[in-house]
Amino acid sequence: MDTVAALDVAAVRADFPILDQRVDGKPLVYLDNAASSQKPRQVIEAISAYYMTDHANVHRGVHELARRATEAYEGARERIARWANAESADEIVWTRGASEALNLAAFTLGQSRVGAGDEIVVSDMEHHSNLVPWQLLAARNGAVLRHVELTSDGRLDLDSLASLLGPRTRVVALPHVSNALGTINPVARIGRMVREKSSAAYVLDGAQGAPHLPLDMAELGCDLYAFSAHKMCGPTGIGALWGRSALLAELPPYQGGGEMIAHVYRDHSTWTTPPHKFEAGTPNIAGAVGMQAAAEYLDDLGMAAVHRHESSLVGRALALLSEVDGLRILGPTAPEDRAGVIPFVVDDAPAQDIATILDAEGIAVRAGHHCAQLVLDRFGLPATVRASFYLYNTPDEVDRLAEGVRLAVSMLRQ
Ligand code: PMP
Repeated sequence: MDTVAALDVAAVRADFPILDQRVDGKPLVYLDNAASSQKPRQVIEAISAYYMTDHANVHRGVHELARRATEAYEGARERIARWANAESADEIVWTRGASEALNLAAFTLGQSRVGAGDEIVVSDMEHHSNLVPWQLLAARNGAVLRHVELTSDGRLDLDSLASLLGPRTRVVALPHVSNALGTINPVARIGRMVREKSSAAYVLDGAQGAPHLPLDMAELGCDLYAFSAHKMCGPTGIGALWGRSALLAELPPYQGGGEMIAHVYRDHSTWTTPPHKFEAGTPNIAGAVGMQAAAEYLDDLGMAAVHRHESSLVGRALALLSEVDGLRILGPTAPEDRAGVIPFVVDDAPAQDIATILDAEGIAVRAGHHCAQLVLDRFGLPATVRASFYLYNTPDEVDRLAEGVRLAVSMLRQ
């Protein structure tokens, strides 16, 4: 029996004040969610309430406000751990977002596990945030980057992955969901392959997974998982790296400063335990409070319901857009293999121009390389248009997108 409740999208939209506006006199259709999502009132109010009544620095004060701020900050960590089905709050390291989480992973794994001649496996599907940190590490340590190839329908080629894994593989870093293709990768299956053929640390870029799919760290089978709050209804400037306890205990610190030490001597220091070992300096306390409110908001709706809603929008968009003459959609053809991201190109209609015409219709999409240049290189394209959906988008908005694209194409072909 299907127990996933349907989303009440009208009620959801009423929680997002920003959506209720016109652009050039037309109702805003926000389809740039893969870049950043909008925030519900509940998140905005939680951040405001924190600053109105509870703010002080964390962990160090004996006074009431310091106690409240510390409880809010550490309570948020516990809530995010529960949201991600982690075993313990100590597995959640706060970061500025997915990019910093991946840089933390690359820096610390580089210190402890990757030497000259060792191999780091990434793919041609990476967002630059899960590629450049590994390039920097490879250059620093004399390691070698290996790239998993993509299939023509935008999936990871698992034969290519299998051929790259071996005793020199120290890290395998892949996306959970592609921001440029929409592909949902079979990450648990890949985790089993990684473990069978190597002793590599398995790192997942969850920037596009966490906001859209039910999360279960045990089921994913990875060692580190990076995600950002701002793509999941939370504020900018905060995110997290989930890590297996044993690995977090093994990794060295990322940055030095207050909060991350056990004891400081004149010429050296000792470190506190994870997660604080990786969190130097005054953290983004209000950000953590906002991220908690976002996770609660999503949990109340149910991530399975969010995913199902997005899948139905994707199904509708695939059907309507594929009727447009000369339009090609990138990524997997089976709707169940894709999240709410639809990248497309149209013959004789440059992506940037389509996005500009859509903007004049009040429809916000993105055009360009989407910080995933290897994906565009793979498909020989300079740019794509990307429409990306979230929980507050409606079937009517999908129809407006399709009408807008038709209009843009006819204008550009004249
Ligand atoms: N990975 C992927 C797949 C992304 O889509 C993004 C954001 N566009 C990032 C990493 C980086 O996230 P952030 O900018 O929040 O650090």
